[in-house]
Amino acid sequence: MATNDVFTDALSRLEQIGKDVDIDPEAIAALQQPRAMLTASVPLRMDDGSMRYLTAYRCRYNDARGPTKGGIRYHPDVSRAEIQALALWMTLKCAVVGIPYGGGKGGVVVDPKALSPMELERLSRGYMRAMADFVGPETDIPAPDVYTNARIMGWMADEYETIHRRNTPGVITGKPIALGGSLGRDEATGRGAFLVIRRYAERAGLEPEKTRVAVQGFGNAGYHVARLLQEAGYKIVAASDSKGAIYSPDGFGLYHQKQETRKLEGVYCDGSVCELVDHERITNEELLELDVDLLVPAALEGVIHEGNAGRIRAKTIAEVANGPVEASADETLRERGIVVLPDVLVNAGGVTVSYFEWVQNRQGMAWTLEEVRSRLEARMFDAFDAMWAEFDGQGRTARAAAYTVALRRIEEALLAGGDHAYFSGGQR
Ligand code: GLU
Repeated sequence: MATNDVFTDALSRLEQIGKDVDIDPEAIAALQQPRAMLTASVPLRMDDGSMRYLTAYRCRYNDARGPTKGGIRYHPDVSRAEIQALALWMTLKCAVVGIPYGGGKGGVVVDPKALSPMELERLSRGYMRAMADFVGPETDIPAPDVYTNARIMGWMADEYETIHRRNTPGVITGKPIALGGSLGRDEATGRGAFLVIRRYAERAGLEPEKTRVAVQGFGNAGYHVARLLQEAGYKIVAASDSKGAIYSPDGFGLYHQKQETRKLEGVYCDGSVCELVDHERITNEELLELDVDLLVPAALEGVIHEGNAGRIRAKTIAEVANGPVEASADETLRERGIVVLPDVLVNAGGVTVSYFEWVQNRQGMAWTLEEVRSRLEARMFDAFDAMWAEFDGQGRTARAAAYTVALRRIEEALLAGGDHAYFSGGQR
């Protein structure tokens, strides 16, 4: 694990890449700290009558390109440093896909699996009460993230509308369809990742049938990316959730969609069919080190680090999670010829369809699923091609290439009102 916290790690990478690609130091300086960070204590009345106070955060990292945007996570390991890192990555991510947003993020330090449905609703409404003056459809727009979902977004939107006494669907995205959500938002992160992998496979000459894939994590992103890869003929040989992993070197030939349960063995094997699919149980750590063509970390940050980077055997890593590879592992992976398709591009499909949802809310219109999917595809391919132009034959990593695209766009917005040279009469 890193000796630095995840935010320090994110900043060191930003500084390094900023230097390598000649970004104005004023732009890098603007990205070295969040514009604003709100820490709140959210009171939660438990079902047994007792009271708990939970620490909650919302970070508005940088709004040079538009209102800040990013999810809210519920997890026991949430920390100030983590939320700041995630908000910085959202800033870069929105710039990579060219949507008019800055970056933000929120979180609550809590184990949501230990809460009852009513406790979860009270917590979500309490979070929005604490943040109601900090977020807004033109300032900061939350969305789902780890262990939050459409229902939770619906509660939060309702709470905001109750406080402000007006219908404001654009305050939050990832809502249930009936409450102004967008078709295609639920699968958007997975579909966006799939589109990036497909485009990369075309460029790098990978054939789906010969590409063995291991997917770590089976939340909303991991599930959909595994499903789409499998449908396209990729060979899924391993998958995992927080409890463990399953592995079958010949691939899971049978696929049974059981989204309701989202249980790993329920998805890959169904009742008696399960016995036909020979699989071994392995750990999440072992999954990361399997001899596969494509490794898809789709869970939490920091799973690939200095300690295991030398043992990763995948040829390509597609970062579906935010920050699964620590900065300390970048160089080892590069030296070993492993291409890391970075999070700020690979998982940007989620926020892209969040942007479509916000646009639909402002238009008062609902787009068809086909419209959402074709617009998502166009955005993801444009972003991929912009990254590729900076990557292919340029001697830098795919991450540095994507950061370059993002940093140039952020730099342009930050310095449009004048840079150091302008205000010092041309003298630096
Ligand atoms: N939580 C997602 C992410 O990390 C989506 C954010 C959004 O839709 O605003 O990209």
